[in-house]
Amino acid sequence: MSAASVDIQFKVTPAARRTPAGDRERILANPGFGKVFSEHMAVASWERGAGWHDAVVCPYAPIPLDPGTSVLHYAQAVFEGLKAYRQQDGRITVFRPEANAARFRRSSRRLALPELPEAAFVEAIDQLVGLDADWVPSAPEHSLYLRPFMFASEVNLSVHPSDAVTFVLIASPSGSYFPTGVKPVTVWLSEDFSRAAPGGTGAAKTGGNYAGSLLAQAQAAEQGCDQVVWLDAIEHRWVEEMGGMNLFFVFDSGPKPRLMTPELTGTLLPGITRDSLLTLGKDLGYEVEEGRITVEQWRAGCADGSLSEVFACGTAAVITPVGAVKSASASWQVGDTRPGAITMRLRQALVDIQRGAAPDVHGWMHAVPPA
Ligand SMILES: *Cc1c(COP(=O)(O)O)cnc(C)c1O
Repeated sequence: MSAASVDIQFKVTPAARRTPAGDRERILANPGFGKVFSEHMAVASWERGAGWHDAVVCPYAPIPLDPGTSVLHYAQAVFEGLKAYRQQDGRITVFRPEANAARFRRSSRRLALPELPEAAFVEAIDQLVGLDADWVPSAPEHSLYLRPFMFASEVNLSVHPSDAVTFVLIASPSGSYFPTGVKPVTVWLSEDFSRAAPGGTGAAKTGGNYAGSLLAQAQAAEQGCDQVVWLDAIEHRWVEEMGGMNLFFVFDSGPKPRLMTPELTGTLLPGITRDSLLTLGKDLGYEVEEGRITVEQWRAGCADGSLSEVFACGTAAVITPVGAVKSASASWQVGDTRPGAITMRLRQALVDIQRGAAPDVHGWMHAVPPA
């Protein structure tokens, strides 16, 4: 059988004592991001030769690790991030889980990890979210953030693709990214550090890419900026990404607005929000394009008004407008620094589909079957 057709059944063991409804409602009223977790998790193990086994949905609990566990030393690990939404009619849907499942496999391949079959990825979500359905918030822009991840769990300090791997799925109720309204960010162009180089792991969703970004993020904060913008690692001129989000540039001086996002060169993370916005932009009648832009073109476009809006996109914040840019040699504003009309129209279009307020014409919403 091919890896894609292997069927993995999760054995469900609910917690003996459930969180009282009142306590849960208090948590859901103000969950923040990534600090509280639902009552269960999904876990599956893989061994070279034996394949996947012991797939369970069980009470959320710490995972004890031997100090010699490979991932703690060599970071052989990948992750995903996606959201479950409460629809107005009470049903629960997940945005494009098949796309995350496919990316999880691609990331795993790059990190020499086994590829979890896409059906098992989605099945883990269905089982966990079905069981923890009460943890899916209903407030606007609130959601249950899903974090699938996989790591080298073999106890061995020799460097090699791990012979034992653990897959885990946890769920974290999350509040609105912008509780006081969408707020543009100021970005720092990092010319000292690179996120990803040709041939590296930039296109894989792996924690090491983030570990290497933290010092640059701290430098951005020292400069009074909210986020880092990454440039290509060779010429340090081509714009790639912002923090953990993809970037879009809006040129609104022609007959119809043109959206441009940096093309996937292998050093960018192929965002599912990015992909969705390329489709929605077309639906809204804009020209959409995957292209290239240098720092100098960004600055010149803002100066002559041809580049009117810039925004970043990703699962966590959906769309974040970029209001101002700063580098060691220059700083400038984007438009009038406020969220642009096209930025906000795209954001609303995507949020409406995710919330069930607009028809799901592209078949992006996956309904979670009731437990
Ligand atoms: C996850 C991620 C994104 C955004 O991907 P989405 O699928 O849209 O959430 C962009 N850049 C990086 C570096 C990421 O890790």
